Formats: sequence, structure tokens, C-alpha cells
Amino acid sequence: MKDYSWTHDALDLAQDYHPQTIAVRAGQFRTAEGEHNEPIYATSSYVYASAEAAAAHFNGQAVGNVYSRHTNPSVRLFERRLAALENAERCVATASGMGAICALALAFLKSGDHMICARQVFGSTKALFDGYFAKFGVSVDYADLTDLSDWQIKIRSNTKLLFIESPSNPLGQVGDIRALANLAHAHGALLAVDNCFATPILQKPLDLGADIVMHSASKYIDGQGRVLGGALLGSDSLMEQAFGVIRTAGISLSAFNAWILGKGLETLDLRMRAHCQNAMAVANFLSTHKSVVRVHYAGLPTDNGHALAKCQQSGLYGAIIGVVLADKAAAWRLIDSTRLISITNNLGDAKTTITHPATTTHFRISQEDRNSAGVVDGLVRLSIGLEHADDIIKDLARGLD
Ligand SMILES: *Cc1c(COP(=O)(O)O)cnc(C)c1O
Repeated sequence: MKDYSWTHDALDLAQDYHPQTIAVRAGQFRTAEGEHNEPIYATSSYVYASAEAAAAHFNGQAVGNVYSRHTNPSVRLFERRLAALENAERCVATASGMGAICALALAFLKSGDHMICARQVFGSTKALFDGYFAKFGVSVDYADLTDLSDWQIKIRSNTKLLFIESPSNPLGQVGDIRALANLAHAHGALLAVDNCFATPILQKPLDLGADIVMHSASKYIDGQGRVLGGALLGSDSLMEQAFGVIRTAGISLSAFNAWILGKGLETLDLRMRAHCQNAMAVANFLSTHKSVVRVHYAGLPTDNGHALAKCQQSGLYGAIIGVVLADKAAAWRLIDSTRLISITNNLGDAKTTITHPATTTHFRISQEDRNSAGVVDGLVRLSIGLEHADDIIKDLARGLD
């Protein structure tokens, strides 16, 4: 007799499966209907067998679903599958990547606390810390992702959180996760890593010593630019605190989005390998082109981040490329001459996208800060998709020649 009702816990206990197998199989719980595919649990609330049973769900004597702002079976599937891939005790899903960072700050910071954030992070991440958490008395300093001594100087007795993105947006710079985790722990702080660009296929920050992994699932985990979602991952005790914030503040992931994202995880390994292979080919092409001033891609042996990425990632280097041209005019000319590639700020999509960070994603940042972060006027960001590499290269060559 075959038991089809397993969850990821049972799956893990049975055998030591490879990540590809976990991504396809983990987290599913089959109902008595015997459905093969995971259903979407489109329900906001749940029923109880009796008044006594309802009371037990509320007073904590019984465990089970109460309301989908708290728990939902489709969301749970996504959480279990991503937790299995990140080697995390627990995952808690959120409505978006920014929702995950918001839950992180609300759960682990309070008035009077200090945090250090890498200078090279997603624009909205900075806006959230500077514009909103500062209002509640949380102070934030920015340090260079690639310079450990900058973090050593800035850490204080009330520093509670270090936050980085590696590889970073938009230059793909690489931070030393193990060294930053050691620094955080020596000062009683937590290290949180935004693993959006790497995904668990390239890098598992918890295995490198980080306390919390954060995801924008809207990017590679969806992989086709359809829905928003996010997640935090870490130990049971840390995630229980984050879960309290998410269910109370209502930053919860919807069942439909969770279903899309859970299915996205099934193909993440295959897609990431194809994205990275295409990106390597495009980076090689760009780095030999006479109109190109510089290529930022950790897969190139000449890149500053190459050695570190090689030892902390799984031999794959991601699919975000920063290419520097002479000036803004040259950058815009490249963007406007593409026919295939989409002009959009989204990334991590099957479709290759092209952006001019200085006038879009980084527009609000002062020119001085942009230049010190390497976001010069000639920089173009490419998110390499799943089209054939030759077609992507041909589309770029037109604007460069
Ligand atoms: C997009 C993105 C976010 C924010 O995620 P949303 O799902 O858009 O809220 C955070 N970090 C990185 C690196 C991102 O690319």
C-alpha cells in the first residue's frame, strides 16, 4: 500500500533526496480526493466540528487553520517547500519581498536599536529603513558590502541587525556571509541575507552562518513575472516571532500567489541553470566589445567578486549583469535599439529585461551617492532571461556597434 498523504517532513525522513527532488515533491499534503496536483485553497476561514472545537482552536489547545491571514494550506505548501530548499527549520511567507523586510524589522527591532545595512541594497529597502523605521527610533548606518572593516567600525553595543543582499542589485557585488555572520554573533546581533538574486539553487545563507534569509519570491521563484510574494526563513524560534507580526499586521501571502510560487519552485533549479548559462555567454560577449567600458558579473574571472562568489555559491553566478558604457547617451541608445529585450525594471523573469538604473530604480538617490555605489550614468542593468543566448547577444550587438 502506497501512502500518498506525506508532507515534506515525512519525505525528508524517508530518504536523503537531492534539491531537485525536494523542489518538486516537498510540502505537498494530499486530501482524501486523491488529487495529483496541489490544489489552491481559496478560503478565508475554516469550519469547526463543534463550539468546543472552535474554542479549542482559539485558546491554543487545538492546532489547525483559523483564518487565512494566519495560515492557509496553499501557503503552507510553499513555505515547506522553500524551507526544505534553504535548509531552514521554518519559512514564513509574506505578501511581497518588501513585506518580508517589514516583518523582519517589526519582529526584531525596537526603538533605540541600531542596524547596519549594506549600501548596495534594493532602493525600496533603504526607503523603508530611512523613511519609516527611523520614525520609530530605529537608527540605521550603511556600510560597504565588500569591505568588512567598514562593518567592524560601524557596529555598536545596540546594533541588533545586519542586513545584506548578495549578490547585490544592480552590480552583482558579493558580501562575505560567513565573516559578517561571525561579526554579528560576536556582538549579539542577527545577520539577515536577501537571497533574491542567488535563490537557494546558488547559495544557502543559513548554511554559511546567517540567521535569517529573506526572499522576494516575485523574481526568480515565480520566474515568469506574474505575482508578488516574499518569505523569511530561519530557526523555529525566530520565525515564530516573525509569524506573529505577519498574521497580526496582515502582510500574509495569498493562496493563489502561494500556489503559483510553490509551482515555481518545481522548476527553479532548471531555470536558474539556464539563466546563469545564458548570462555567462552574454557577459563574455560584452566583456570583449570595444564600446563597453566595464562589465560587472561575478562569473567573469576578472570581476572583484569572483573569488568569493566561487567559494560561497554553487559554481553558478546569477543572471544579473551590469554593463558600463561611455555615458548616459550611449546607455539610452543601447536600451532604445533593442527589439527583443523588454525595457522594464523587473528582473528574474523568463524574458530578458534592460534598465537604466540612474534614471529609474536609483533616480531618487543623489548623484554623489549613486556614483559612490557604482551606479554611474553609463550603467545599464540586464536581467538575462531564458531566450536563446545568441538572440539576446544579437539584440544587444545592434545598439553597441
Ligand atoms: C524586488 C526586490 C525586493 C522587493 O521585493 P518585492 O517582492 O518587489 O516587494 C527586495 N530585494 C531585492 C533584491 C529585489 O530585487
